Amino acid sequence: MALLQISEPGLSPEPHQHRRAVGIDLGTTNSLVATVRSGTPETLPDKQGRHLLPSVVHYGKGGEIQVGSAARRRLVENPLDTLASVKRYMGRGVEDIARLGSELPYQLVDSDNGMPSFQTAGGAISPVAASAEILEALEQRAELALDGSLDGAVITVPAYFDDAQRQATKDAATLAGIKVLRLLNEPTAAAIAYGLDQQDQGVIAVYDLGGGTFDISILRLTRGVFEVLATGGDSALGGDDFDRAIAEWIGRQAGLPDALDPSQQRMLLEAARAAKEQLTEQQQVDVAAAGWRGTLGREQLGELLKPYIDKTLRACKKAVRDAGLEIGQVDNIVMVGGSTRTPRVREQVAQLFGKPPLVDLDPDRVVALGAAIQADILVGNKPDGEILLLDVIPLSLGLETMGGLTEKIIHRNTTIPVAKAQEFTTFKDGQAAMAIHVLQGERELVSDNRSLARFELRDIPPMVAGAAKVRVVFQVDADGLLSVTAKELTSGVEARVEVKPSYGLSDEEVTSMLKASYTHAKEDMQARALKEQQVEADRMIEDLTAALAADGRELLSEEEYHCLEVALKDLRSLASSEDHRLIARHIEMVAKASETFAARRMDVSIKKALSGHHLTDFDEQ
Ligand code: ADP
Ligand code: MG
Repeated sequence: MALLQISEPGLSPEPHQHRRAVGIDLGTTNSLVATVRSGTPETLPDKQGRHLLPSVVHYGKGGEIQVGSAARRRLVENPLDTLASVKRYMGRGVEDIARLGSELPYQLVDSDNGMPSFQTAGGAISPVAASAEILEALEQRAELALDGSLDGAVITVPAYFDDAQRQATKDAATLAGIKVLRLLNEPTAAAIAYGLDQQDQGVIAVYDLGGGTFDISILRLTRGVFEVLATGGDSALGGDDFDRAIAEWIGRQAGLPDALDPSQQRMLLEAARAAKEQLTEQQQVDVAAAGWRGTLGREQLGELLKPYIDKTLRACKKAVRDAGLEIGQVDNIVMVGGSTRTPRVREQVAQLFGKPPLVDLDPDRVVALGAAIQADILVGNKPDGEILLLDVIPLSLGLETMGGLTEKIIHRNTTIPVAKAQEFTTFKDGQAAMAIHVLQGERELVSDNRSLARFELRDIPPMVAGAAKVRVVFQVDADGLLSVTAKELTSGVEARVEVKPSYGLSDEEVTSMLKASYTHAKEDMQARALKEQQVEADRMIEDLTAALAADGRELLSEEEYHCLEVALKDLRSLASSEDHRLIARHIEMVAKASETFAARRMDVSIKKALSGHHLTDFDEQ
């Protein structure tokens, strides 16, 4: 009989299994997939050896779908059925898209979920569905190269992507059947590819000039954690503008008319792009158009590109300023995007920052490479001990306050480990215990969020309402384990509870909770405002009723007393109304009306406190 094996102490009893994880750069113009093999990240080519997959999808009449270069070739002859740059439309509503520009090349059709689709020969296609096709093509490429199905992927998104855009990206991955390990900010991925996360700290500028977009991000690294300090750029500035400027120049030289038909225009643009890319290697290139032949040199190119490059430099300066920094405080500049190959771009960026930018890695691939490194760690391929500091909590954590409201203590997407504290106080005079209700979620009302735990802080010494100081600390460790402690500071009484916030919550639930928080954001704010006013009104009613009963008759004239009584009665009947502004107005009125009364009470209580004491008693305390 074979003996059963027992592992060495400290080593995992499971034989080490390498998992298939990839990083995906889902770009506006081009997309890539990369993986870590034998410790080195590399991008994966298709069967023809091409690493870049053009982010273009063609939908044919018979339902056939083409992705990548094949689809890009269809752009000229069949622009309406060939979707390019769909990243611009991810997670956007019809109105957002209308605002993006009038030159939308596609026919929009409305859908019931608020997200528009594009009318193609293959039916109405949403940006999410088109992105899913691109992701699926990359997934297939990776599965072929890695010889098996993927365990997960890190997908990159621009740092400025909002929640809806991020969600749309995740949805596209889900449609493609890809497990998303994490969405990672593109600039962070680029910094990771250069190993900058291994440094102790520093400020990094990531200059990303692609085909149609320019992004500048200023990151701060502290102990392995990247924080986005500022983002800027121009969503309609990139290599395409370079191409257009060159095409116009060629057109002028060749004496072409201003108005060309779309396919002539396309051909001229293709010639311009080819010339531009060759000029990255050569000092000058030959160009020909409509019987005209000539040359384009680097100097001339520099002149043509100058207005666009200058625009990027202005955005860089602004972003550095927005980050509260000086240009000289930027330690590293990472170059991303195909257009940063242009020598003039590199020179100008070096001049602005006063130091040469990092250009050793292929600027097309650097984002995908960083994502692959991250994916490799997340999927567990790194030896134990190498902890990942870049984890974030998926949903906000907070507690219940008066009126059934949620006060967020740690906001979602905060990097863990993290500890945050906030002070609370009692609502009633002599309140001896406090109910701590720990919640998870983005909504304003407790009833819409998820309850994680409840515990009580007892033995609070009797004090007037608002005098107790209860410090509540939320702490999430590197494994996502939450512990909450509450301590009354004057007496030192303390209570704590531990919870595992992600326990039992599937990705889908997280997603649907987030979705609900976007859809209900407005009503939530109103509900919160109403509750806050109701709580305030209740507090005022309680205080004033007690005060009137205690010494109203003594300190107020008959008329003053009556006046306050009426105001109080009004407030009581309004406190349960649905109009928070009305309640707020009445609170204000009652506060005004009771000012004199409050002042008199104050005088009396000071006199009472002083009587029977010598003033020196107080000096000694
Ligand atoms: P995106 O991030 O928008 O997907 P990329 O980062 O792939 O775009 O950049 C595409 C742009 O890079 C195109 O405008 C392309 O012409 C330009 N580009 C690619 N190679 C070169 C090169 N050798 N020299 C100059 N520009 C280049
Ligand atoms: Mg890019």
